[in-house]
Amino acid sequence: MSVPERPRIKRALLKLSGEAFAEEGGFGLDPQSVKYLASEIVEVYKVGVETAVVIGGGNFVRGDAFSREAGIEPAVAHYMGMLATIINALALQEAIEKLGVFTRVMSAVEAQAVCETFIRRRALRHLEKGRIVILAGGTGNPFFTTDTAAALRAQELNADV
Ligand code: UDP
Repeated sequence: MSVPERPRIKRALLKLSGEAFAEEGGFGLDPQSVKYLASEIVEVYKVGVETAVVIGGGNFVRGDAFSREAGIEPAVAHYMGMLATIINALALQEAIEKLGVFTRVMSAVEAQAVCETFIRRRALRHLEKGRIVILAGGTGNPFFTTDTAAALRAQELNADV
C-alpha cells in the first residue's frame, strides 16, 4: 500500500466573494450556501493545507454602487462594505466550527466584541496551529476591494496559492 503523499501546497489563501454567501443573484445570507462553503473549505483543510480565507461583502453592500444609489458619502459606503464582510465571516466561522475545525476571524476594521483585529504575526501563528483564519474587513481602507485585500494577505502570509 502506498503512503499518501504530503500535500505540495503548504498554505492556501482563498478569496470568497459575498455573492457566494447568497442565493443565486440574491442579497444577504443563504444558510445552505454558507454550509456548502464551510464543507468545501474543511475538505481542503483536512488534506493538510493551512487555510486562510478572505471574505467579500458584495452580498450586502458594494461601496461605489451604494454611495451612488443612496446618495451617501463614498467613504461611509465603503466602510459599510467592510463591515458587511464581518457579517459573512462570522456566519462562515460558525458553519466551519460546527464541522469540528477551529477558526479565528481577524478583521482589518476593529470589531473587538466579535473578532480579533488582524495582526500579521498572530495570523501566522493561528495558521501554524492549524486554525482556519477567516480574514474580514478587507484592507481596512475605503476605496479598495476585498480582491486587493486577498492579494495583500496572500503576500503577507506567504501563501503558496
Ligand atoms: N471595501 C473597502 N475596502 C476594502 C475592501 C472592501 O472599502 O479594503 C468595501 C468596498 O466598498 C467594496 C465592499 O467593501 O465594494 C465589499 O467588498 P467587495 O466588493 O470586494 O466584495 P465582493 O465583491 O468580494 O463580494
